[in-house]
Amino acid sequence: MNIFHAKNYLKEYFGYENFRPGQDEIIQSVLFGNNTAGIMPTGGGKSICYQIPALLMEGITLVVSPLISLMKDQVDALNQTGISATFINSSLTQAEIERRLSEAELGVYKLIYIAPERLESPYFVQYLRSLPIPLVAVDEAHCISQWGHDFRPSYLRIKDLLQGLPSNPVVLALTATATPQVQSDICSSLEIEEENTYITGFSRENLSFKVIKGQDRSQYALHYVRTNKDESGIIYAATRKEVDSLYNKLKKQGVAVGKYHGGMSDVQRNEMQEEFLKDNLQVIVATNAFGMGINKSNVRYVLHYQLPKNMESYYQEAGRAGRDGGESECVVLYSPQDVQIQRFLISQNTLDPARHTQELLKLRQMVDYCHTEGCLQEFILRYFGDEEAAPCGKCSNCTDERQAIEVTRETQMVLSCMIRMGERFGNSLVSQVLAGSKNKKIKEFGFEKLSTYGLMKEQKQKDISLFIDFLISEEYITVVSGTFPVLRVSERGKSVLQGKEKVTRKETMKVEKVSYQENDELFQTLRSIRKELADSEGVPPFVIFSDETLRDMCRKLPSDSAAFLEVKGVGSHKNDKYGSRFVEAITEYKTSKQAEERSDKSRGSDEEPSHMATYKLYFKGKGLEEITEERNLSLTTVQNHILQSIEEGMEVNTDKFLTNEERQLIEVAVEKAGHEKLKPIKEELPDEISYFQIKVFLHERIMAVK
Ligand code: ADP
Ligand code: ZN
Repeated sequence: MNIFHAKNYLKEYFGYENFRPGQDEIIQSVLFGNNTAGIMPTGGGKSICYQIPALLMEGITLVVSPLISLMKDQVDALNQTGISATFINSSLTQAEIERRLSEAELGVYKLIYIAPERLESPYFVQYLRSLPIPLVAVDEAHCISQWGHDFRPSYLRIKDLLQGLPSNPVVLALTATATPQVQSDICSSLEIEEENTYITGFSRENLSFKVIKGQDRSQYALHYVRTNKDESGIIYAATRKEVDSLYNKLKKQGVAVGKYHGGMSDVQRNEMQEEFLKDNLQVIVATNAFGMGINKSNVRYVLHYQLPKNMESYYQEAGRAGRDGGESECVVLYSPQDVQIQRFLISQNTLDPARHTQELLKLRQMVDYCHTEGCLQEFILRYFGDEEAAPCGKCSNCTDERQAIEVTRETQMVLSCMIRMGERFGNSLVSQVLAGSKNKKIKEFGFEKLSTYGLMKEQKQKDISLFIDFLISEEYITVVSGTFPVLRVSERGKSVLQGKEKVTRKETMKVEKVSYQENDELFQTLRSIRKELADSEGVPPFVIFSDETLRDMCRKLPSDSAAFLEVKGVGSHKNDKYGSRFVEAITEYKTSKQAEERSDKSRGSDEEPSHMATYKLYFKGKGLEEITEERNLSLTTVQNHILQSIEEGMEVNTDKFLTNEERQLIEVAVEKAGHEKLKPIKEELPDEISYFQIKVFLHERIMAVK
């Protein structure tokens, strides 16, 4: 039993060639029979550290895991790789529990997951004594410490359990929390020697960090979600109210969005969570109540709609992106007002003065993160004590090439307007005065008589307001909180007014796709096959294959079972189970690409144009679907061929595509939305009416005029 076998198992069951940093040391240490602690960031690959030893050791490995929702997914995932496992927690009936326990006795399972609360039952603990348990893995081991953020009293029972087990098992404690206090609690409670504690680096190479400042965040979020509409994401907002409002906004825009916060019932929350895991919801808007117990590996972005309260929570929440190792993004949408809100929450929730100061300091560091001009990842790693951290080359600061423009004049306009208004108002009234708004409040205060009234009237009030946000975030303006926030000119602002300091501002940050996919068409096909398989087996798609595995398929384009086994994340069990289905789709894709290439080459010769070939089939009475199959083209292409044929005056019976009722509907929509652009027309119409039908209608009109 050694690391060599472990590596074979890594390939055989999990389909990976190499261990991630720390995994091999931890496994080695466990196999040597040492009580061991492993501290790795979220997504670092902790599970494999006990799953592989479980395969190599005689008997059944006990896994203590705090989250019921996670347990089922973990067991599903193991069963998918061909490893027999089960779980026992309060979600099961007594009869089911007994059934599973007697199967365990028969040696059916290699791993059994239990909730810590089980250990409160003397009957259950007594029962465990009869099982051959060589290894006890303690997941989320920080729950053992009162200093950790999720102390679970039942975790203290693990110690008693270990003492009572006749098999004298090895213990492996795993967590992502590395504070010294928590570590020492874990090690002393579970009798782990310091030399058997393995801490891997905290950097997550596949995450790109971004901070967006002085931009309209609801616009940004919407645009972001739309741009990444095929990807899964989480948006964190600070309050339930904010969650509801953003959720409604996205929903209105037709986004498949869910929400999650403490004000919803358990049933509602579970449902949202399930739908998100199954990729039926693209994005979930949530308070920080969401996320513990989510091991969905294909979360491609985590957007913080509001400032988190400290770096610890931020890194934990952001770390839920990209657990599969695929490129992912973590974005903070910074707005200076949030600092006020967080300060307020801290003063409400923290009574102990020392703690209060501490929390404010942590908040300050979070704000510093948003303002740093250096590398964001480096900032995070240094915060967590990694002195050697270096720039990442891919965060929003490392890649910032935006031009800065000088805005000193505009800044002076804003500041002097604030002074003329007596520095007693907030952003909205100041920006209204500058925009020359006719608001009645302005009349009341007589602000329309100020020399600064309408001084920036060529700009929209919204943009002026964003500009003020920018000045706040750069600290030319301070926000003083009272019943409502009031803007004051800061020291830095004063030196701008005196002409001693210039102000520059960069263009807004653009939204880009999180992950660029070379064979996007194939990737989408594979993704839909994965979804289909997942639904039929009742598991989330990422349990079948991770996004990274699909991506590797697109790269390697395996054409048989042996080649499929070479794909990262494909073990032999999954190869047998799913290989042929995916290989078939890949082969189909390759063939159609080759055909396309061939026809590309032959184009330009005197072969007939492609749309003519389509037209001929159509003329013979074939349906569009049939033609797509026969010619191996997409439906859109075939439809375009038909439209081109209409344009060229060939005979096409458009009644096949449009009923008279549909014509009338489109007619009305065109009257409303004009005929220049299709999208506004489409938006006026029921979803069932396709772009193709609208185009046919417009073509008919043109042909009628001709
Ligand atoms: P953690 O519990 O540390 O957050 P997981 O155990 O859930 O992380 O693993 C995260 C992801 O990394 C999973 O998709 C897992 O399959 C993958 N993974 C684990 N080990 C390796 C490895 N050696 N090579 C490639 N991927 C791995
Ligand atoms: Zn960087």
